[in-house]
Amino acid sequence: MTELTKEFYEELVEIRHYLHQHPELSNEEFETTKFLKRKLEEWGIAIVPTSMKTGVIAEIGDKSNGKVIALRADIDALPINEKTGLPYSSVNEGIMHACGHDFHQTSLLGAAKILKENEDKLNGLVRLIFQPAEEVQGGAVEVIQAGHLEDVQAILGFHNHPKLKVGEIALIEEGIMASVDQFFIKVHGIGTHAAEPQLGVDVPIVISTILTQLQTIVARNIPAREAIVLSVTHIETGQAWNVLPDDGFFEGTIRSFNQDLRKETKQRFVKIIENTAESLGASVEIIWGSSAPVTYNCPKLTKIVVEGSKKVANVIQATPSNAGEDFSHYQEKISGVFAFIGTNGEEGANGWHHSNFLVKDEALPIAVNYYVENAFHVLDNFLV
Ligand SMILES: [Zn+2]
Ligand SMILES: [Zn+2]
Repeated sequence: MTELTKEFYEELVEIRHYLHQHPELSNEEFETTKFLKRKLEEWGIAIVPTSMKTGVIAEIGDKSNGKVIALRADIDALPINEKTGLPYSSVNEGIMHACGHDFHQTSLLGAAKILKENEDKLNGLVRLIFQPAEEVQGGAVEVIQAGHLEDVQAILGFHNHPKLKVGEIALIEEGIMASVDQFFIKVHGIGTHAAEPQLGVDVPIVISTILTQLQTIVARNIPAREAIVLSVTHIETGQAWNVLPDDGFFEGTIRSFNQDLRKETKQRFVKIIENTAESLGASVEIIWGSSAPVTYNCPKLTKIVVEGSKKVANVIQATPSNAGEDFSHYQEKISGVFAFIGTNGEEGANGWHHSNFLVKDEALPIAVNYYVENAFHVLDNFLV
């Protein structure tokens, strides 16, 4: 593990606090992009031209031996009002780094500087991906479409983890985060006077019947040992106590760790909605929103990253999370490993996307070295 000098650690803390104070929403990370470029240029690191409107791609080392590894950090924030009361709280009203992506990008910046200082020892090329728009599940696809993954053989990323202590890195072979499917359902009935329901098709009854039926998928169609989540999170219909509305709407998400069951769940989902609506005289439109596959850690690469991470921290077995990650899109193309790095560990620490979400700066050296040690270790041992 490379010890960070006191000055460098303090510089990174300052960078993290600056980024925390100036969060930007997905696809709008313009100032963040400028800031990252300025830092990388200051440290003599080559920026790669890109067609992406936000985000930064940079490179260290050379690929004359054909070896290329990518290190990825996401850079976007969330539409949340910060309530931490920190002296470096967000100055951008209604926007907060409540998922800790300020921590991720600072860690990758720190790693970039150390890797640049040790460039002559690198056994290949390291591509740094400061990815935009993770929260809307679109950024990874943008990076891939811009061609930045084409010559890459392995990719590493991580997410901070508030439930894990500083000094812990959690890894697991295979699925570490769930697949994500987002759905929007429009329900069309026939509006009527509340006193004359026989003249219409009652949309509130159609929606509530569908919702109850949908819960039978997880309860009755999926083997009990498998983890599938189906949540309806938002329903809208009607505006008055004495009017049955024409239309309604509901949306939500499906999470899974198993590709076959994901497919089966979606099929049952469509069937239940269509058949239930039809049986009650209504019609539906089913619209699928953004999606991400399972964040699947390549077992062979995970073993190498476990070895590399042991030089940096206490490596523990990860408990998979039902949250999703668009890092999974990279792993569909090439071998990738995604870790959880402990950043809090206090009793009752708030989770991701909470207005009181906190990350401890003391975890920065661990995350920096997760990237640095594993970049070296993977270039030396995985890519041959
Ligand atoms: Zn998030
Ligand atoms: Zn996140």
